[in-house]
Amino acid sequence: AKGALSCSGCGIQLQSEQQDKPGYTPVQALEKDPVICQRCFRIKNYNESSSVTVEQDEFLRLLSQIGERQALVIHIVDIFDLQGSVISGLKRFVGNNPVLLAVNKTDLLPKVTNWNKVKNWVQKEVKELGLKVEDIILCSAKQSSGFDRLLDAVATHRDNRDVYVVGATNVGKSTLINRLIHDYSDLDQELTVSRYPGTTLDMVHIPLDDGGSIIDTPGIMYASRYSELVSPEDLSIIMPDKPLKPVVYQLNEGQSIFFGGFGRFDFIKGDRQSFTCFVSGRIPFHRTKLERADELFATHAGEMLAPPSRENLTKLPEWTRHEFRIAKGSRSDVFISGLGWIKINGDTGAVVAVHVPKGLKVMVRPSLI
Ligand code: GDP
Repeated sequence: AKGALSCSGCGIQLQSEQQDKPGYTPVQALEKDPVICQRCFRIKNYNESSSVTVEQDEFLRLLSQIGERQALVIHIVDIFDLQGSVISGLKRFVGNNPVLLAVNKTDLLPKVTNWNKVKNWVQKEVKELGLKVEDIILCSAKQSSGFDRLLDAVATHRDNRDVYVVGATNVGKSTLINRLIHDYSDLDQELTVSRYPGTTLDMVHIPLDDGGSIIDTPGIMYASRYSELVSPEDLSIIMPDKPLKPVVYQLNEGQSIFFGGFGRFDFIKGDRQSFTCFVSGRIPFHRTKLERADELFATHAGEMLAPPSRENLTKLPEWTRHEFRIAKGSRSDVFISGLGWIKINGDTGAVVAVHVPKGLKVMVRPSLI
């Protein structure tokens, strides 16, 4: 029998079924000799990387190879979903190699934002998650801002090492890689993608002019992020593409807010106070009495409480309830990975709950802004 073909670029086993998975190669391209996967083909011919994704176990297997090499790791995360997009096990796998944290999509935060405060907040949060980083660079691939600082940091810490770019899906990794390719390699000269001798890395290895390489790893998928659970049409609704416009609600205890049919926030106990919602502007809100909320969802989910549509709702896990006691005097966010957060000005304390599909990461954290 004919053995499975592998890519002469990155070494991955080729497949023609799933376009967003490593090794994808259109059937007609399999006839070529040597044969390369679509991702390598695009880098070689268009100087352009595109996203491919893998499950967590596969990703960790890939990562463990980084620890054995001289590497500078750029870990790219999404400011809108920081706790959801951080690879908390990174340290274990990259060993003593330095890590730069690129915090992308800063264009989503309100125009008037104290960036020093944001940076300090990120630093505390990633430390809490057990991650040690050399530097934190706030950037926006969309606005091309912060990239110069990132490239400076790469130059400072690189020391002839290869640069590995790692990140969860949808954080902007391809956009960043493409920028690195353009800045670090000679565009007149055709890029070649070549394989590390004797290894199968499933990573795309992009040689640079100075003899080093950028290594593009697949995006890691976490089932705990809303962005991984929803349909593509709903993804474009929950993932904001414009600066967040916080929506403030003055609530009495016993009131609830629905975020379309994506989730629900309950103010269970406490003095009348304000709650500030940072979610995509495309999601319609509905305020209701807590005592009516269950029934409202049962009868109107997918219609008045939409999106998601009734059909898309059936593809999501059932809702589960998370209750939180917000301490008096604290400034906290109730964070829902991929959907956003609700800021609570805990002057008097509060008991709140959220209802979202089971498995999503939901937590209380110190307020981002
Ligand atoms: P990857 O999956 O990590 O490779 O991410 P992509 O580069 O494909 O980007 C994923 C999504 O995030 C796309 O819809 C991009 O338009 C969007 N995106 C990437 N960078 C930014 C950014 O800086 N700001 C905003 N608002 N969106 C971004």
